[in-house]
Amino acid sequence: MPAAAQRPVKVLISVDMEGITGVVTGEQIGPTGFEYQRAREWMTGEAVAAIEAAKEGGATEVVVVDAHGNGQNLLIDRFPADVRVIRSWPRPLSMMEGIDSSFAAVVFIGYHSATTNPRGVRAHTISSATFAAVIINGAPMAESGLNSAIAGHFGVPVVMVSGDDAAVAEVQQTVPGVEGAVVKQAISFHSANTLTPAAGQSLIREKVRAGMAKRASIRPVVLRGPLRLDITFKNYTPAEITAYLPGVERRDAHTIRFTARDITEVARFIQFLTTYNSALTP
Ligand SMILES: [Zn+2]
Repeated sequence: MPAAAQRPVKVLISVDMEGITGVVTGEQIGPTGFEYQRAREWMTGEAVAAIEAAKEGGATEVVVVDAHGNGQNLLIDRFPADVRVIRSWPRPLSMMEGIDSSFAAVVFIGYHSATTNPRGVRAHTISSATFAAVIINGAPMAESGLNSAIAGHFGVPVVMVSGDDAAVAEVQQTVPGVEGAVVKQAISFHSANTLTPAAGQSLIREKVRAGMAKRASIRPVVLRGPLRLDITFKNYTPAEITAYLPGVERRDAHTIRFTARDITEVARFIQFLTTYNSALTP
């Protein structure tokens, strides 16, 4: 057997919820809402479709990252026994925790467009409640852009994305050649023309297989440091207080700047902003 055939092929699947087939409102994406239990079944179905297709495409190891809300949405007892799952928060690499240079490919399932995109179901970047913009070196970022760059930092390409048409278009702009499964057409922030869950899952299967087949031809996204991260908060106080930290500069009433060495520092800084609270226990 040639050496290449024996090398492990590791795939990381990062799963968000706003871009899952059929998901259109805030009610479906939080544990107390209407249809959440249903929506997490659809989400789990899409994750399983991606896992199986990644394996059909040559993956020998799969890590699935539950990258939405409380990080415990996926029904992991429905997963094959040989996958690993990353759950809950905090974690330094956020939606990409678990990635390293031993991986061959990354897949985004259930992704949504950026907070600065006027289109897209539930469009936001990291936190719809607190961030109005996340910008790196002058370019507005989607979660997919940040996460593609985290994968790229480790030399790993993103081979496939699923979500609404706005989310898939964003990734296709940053990652030439990436395969996209458009499982719904955005009509507004809270409306879409959607496939059924079964149709969404078969489209995902097809596109993951296609992405795996061409993974060698897709270039990792590399953002060379230093990276000027500008975050615009929806409120005034977070900008005022975070600018007390050395290394953080106040740009205007709602905006701070943090200059990072690389994208992993950006990820840790954002994780700090979204997690820290002095009343945290234990
Ligand atoms: Zn989400």
